[in-house]
Amino acid sequence: MKTLRFSIITLSSSRSTTLLVIWGFILFPLKEEEEEAEDVGNRSSKTFKPKKNIPEGSHQYELLKHAEATLGSGNLRMAVMLPEGEDLNEWVAVNTVDFFNQINMLYGTITDFCTEESCPVMSAGPKYEYHWADGTNIKKPIKCSAPKYIDYLMTWVQDQLDDETLFPSKIGVPFKRNFMSVAKTILKRLFRVYAHIYHQHFDSVMQLQEEAHLNTSFKHFIFFVQEFNLIDRKELVPLQELIEKLTTKDR
Ligand SMILES: [Zn+2]
Repeated sequence: MKTLRFSIITLSSSRSTTLLVIWGFILFPLKEEEEEAEDVGNRSSKTFKPKKNIPEGSHQYELLKHAEATLGSGNLRMAVMLPEGEDLNEWVAVNTVDFFNQINMLYGTITDFCTEESCPVMSAGPKYEYHWADGTNIKKPIKCSAPKYIDYLMTWVQDQLDDETLFPSKIGVPFKRNFMSVAKTILKRLFRVYAHIYHQHFDSVMQLQEEAHLNTSFKHFIFFVQEFNLIDRKELVPLQELIEKLTTKDR
């Protein structure tokens, strides 16, 4: 039964890839007529980040395949554990790339609903608002719309993942000493995209019948960050109730 459930999820994830493609190429050009082309062109190329690929045949690719296989067992607590004999940094790196790809795809399916008008501030429910700063290019936090914030956020994450000194893809290249703190910042920020989707766009997710896909992805994310203590509890507060529900129902 468990295997069946996960194979259905795999199907739904390939379907959202289709959705992503359809929306990227059909809906955005349509909108171009109403808005300034430059603005829209900018947005469509930035909102959908290209999938970050882990090269086939590499050790990291094997780790990713291992993660997918153990996820299929249905036991998420087991699936997130560091495989025996593996390097923790590498395990965290592979999974961080995978979460980025998942969130990119999930947010990609609802970008049409997340606009300057619907989401003038980046929020996670009425009590939490985020202002963007990356600590290097933008030091003083700026208040901006959710689509703008998420664009900044995903572009920033992508830049980190593409940095070979931070995420080495070649065998034998060591991880930097500060790797884990960079990974923690990435995961802390990626959490905010889940929080925004759940709080502001869950009705659209339901309409698209993507809720099982979203819940599975988020649950995997939470089990992973809990296993290695990667995000402070206070950062998770905007989705605390959901986290309790998802993590106590089945372990
Ligand atoms: Zn939004």
